[in-house]
Amino acid sequence: MRRLYVAGNWKMNTTRTSGVDLATAIAAKVPAEGCPVDVLVAPPFPYLTAVSDAISGSGVKLGAQNAYFEASGAFTGEVAVDMLRDVGCDAVILGHSERRHVLGETDETINRKVLASLEGGLPVILCIGELLEDRKADRTEAILDEQLTGGLNDVSAEQLSEIVLAYEPVWAIGTGETATPEQAQAAHAYTRDWIRRKYGDAPADAIRIQYGGSVKPNNAAELLGQSDVDGALVGGASLKADSFTAIIEAAI
Ligand code: PEP
Repeated sequence: MRRLYVAGNWKMNTTRTSGVDLATAIAAKVPAEGCPVDVLVAPPFPYLTAVSDAISGSGVKLGAQNAYFEASGAFTGEVAVDMLRDVGCDAVILGHSERRHVLGETDETINRKVLASLEGGLPVILCIGELLEDRKADRTEAILDEQLTGGLNDVSAEQLSEIVLAYEPVWAIGTGETATPEQAQAAHAYTRDWIRRKYGDAPADAIRIQYGGSVKPNNAAELLGQSDVDGALVGGASLKADSFTAIIEAAI
């Protein structure tokens, strides 16, 4: 059985104070020992240290929302993998649709970030997912193929064990429109099958695939009940402690 994994992507939201309050409230519900699901929060970079302090002693992991592939140097505005580890990050979200479609990241850039993170010892949540126009044109699987091929280029089977995939249909992110449980299950099954074809049975059976796209307390249980859905990557609903902890409870 794969352990479910619920992650909150705060995007460019919260203040230092509201972020610490949110993290403190979540941490109070996630004990260091005995929580049956993995839980992560990914605050904006400037609040990583404050949030790290707030979740200290709990079972909540700390995530970053991005990382750069170079180790150091003249890359104004970028943040290196070692810096993220240095402030206590347990994982990094890469390839989020906003990084792809708003900020112009390509599969090649994302792959360099994936490799740098894994080589630097920082586990990765790698996001994939199709635009509405792709789904309407029946190109969902082709897009997943493209993003998996690009994002996982040169990733070994051993390194794959440090990756969690997040299937996030772009048309469902922040829109209030959720994929139906059947749509999510179909895309997750396709993704797992893709991993099986490239890496074999054991990695495919082990890899966790989160669903993301307007996950809320009222739809979480049904989505998480699908056989190939191993958790959730949550945006909007991760900004309210009650909603996020209700989603965690749905996963337990
Ligand atoms: C996300 O940001 O990854 C996301 C899924 O956002 P939302 O839950 O708001 O759709």
